[in-house]
Amino acid sequence: MTKDYYSILGVGRTATKDELKKAYRKLALRYHPDKNPGNKQSDEKFKEINEAYEVLKDDQKRAAYDRYGSDYKRAGAGDSSAGYDFSSGFDFSGNFSNFSEIFEEMFGSKFASRGHMQNQAQPGSDIRYDVSITLEEAYRGKRSNIRFSTLVKCDMCGGTGSAGNRMPSQCPTCGGRGGVRYNQGFITIEKTCQTCGGAGSILTDPCKKCSGSGRIKGEKNLEIAIPAGVAAGSQIRIIGEGEAGFKGAPPGNLYIFVDILQHNVYKREGNDIHCKVPISMVKAALGGAIEVPDLGGNVCLVEIPRGTQSGTHLRVEGYGMPLVNSTKKGDLIVHAVVETPVALSKKQKEILEQFAEEKDEKTNSPESFEFFKKLKELFS
Ligand SMILES: [Zn+2]
Ligand SMILES: [Zn+2]
Repeated sequence: MTKDYYSILGVGRTATKDELKKAYRKLALRYHPDKNPGNKQSDEKFKEINEAYEVLKDDQKRAAYDRYGSDYKRAGAGDSSAGYDFSSGFDFSGNFSNFSEIFEEMFGSKFASRGHMQNQAQPGSDIRYDVSITLEEAYRGKRSNIRFSTLVKCDMCGGTGSAGNRMPSQCPTCGGRGGVRYNQGFITIEKTCQTCGGAGSILTDPCKKCSGSGRIKGEKNLEIAIPAGVAAGSQIRIIGEGEAGFKGAPPGNLYIFVDILQHNVYKREGNDIHCKVPISMVKAALGGAIEVPDLGGNVCLVEIPRGTQSGTHLRVEGYGMPLVNSTKKGDLIVHAVVETPVALSKKQKEILEQFAEEKDEKTNSPESFEFFKKLKELFS
């Protein structure tokens, strides 16, 4: 009896290899014996799908099949391997590459990733620890003691999980592979070994304190060093200070996430520090110098040029944020805010009125002069 492989896979006779593969995967997933335990019909269907795909994915076999149908072997046109019988003892190995793909979809990639589970040690998880520091602390760098709960190495067995420090012996069920293969229908499935939980080894005499896991709940106290100049959002990795590994496997890492609190005077932009500084009207007009402390408390003399306007940026090189692992620093940028005097005395008022009389608009206030000139032109 000739089977129609194309209709079994639900594709047209001109289907491309990709279309075939897609159709096969979809059907194989639906009819896989693991999804339909004990269902004879879907078992049969699954065999059929594999048989059809086995032939159609191979150009030569497909050509022969197109010509002679599924009896093509008897017609002498197939490959020479004798006794190649699709309906029993079907050789699935040819489909194994895509079998693993199916496997992944069925059991989730987590399981599939353990496909090569030979004696894989299960390392401890990484740990995240958040710290908030002030901008001054970021400027100077900071050493700080942190404390957190995690799984630590069992002190009774030294992390091996075995009492009396006996080394774990090879798991007799899986022979140290961590996985067990068994046949279901005509396919081979590998699953995590139940005896050893995938570790490949078992403890003949598990430690009483940690029940053989090699780790126990505990606390860690660490001194961490945050470098001067650290950027907000930085992560500092401390190797080996994460959770202890399972049965003596390597520990995870600790990641310190650094957050920097907002400062109410200074604002950081990269390695530069910005700061708004009020400047008296007289100093702004006549010029002079002001003292501005940087984040380290160092006083730095900032030159105010004659005629400085509000909003002018005055850059002082080398008084900004230190660069990590460097002696260099960014700049301090002073934003001048000219302060209009208030609460004037009678005498001060008189002086300013006198000044106004003396004032030549075009020379002394060129910006106002230009502005109002433009406005006048606009409305005349
Ligand atoms: Zn222990
Ligand atoms: Zn085992």
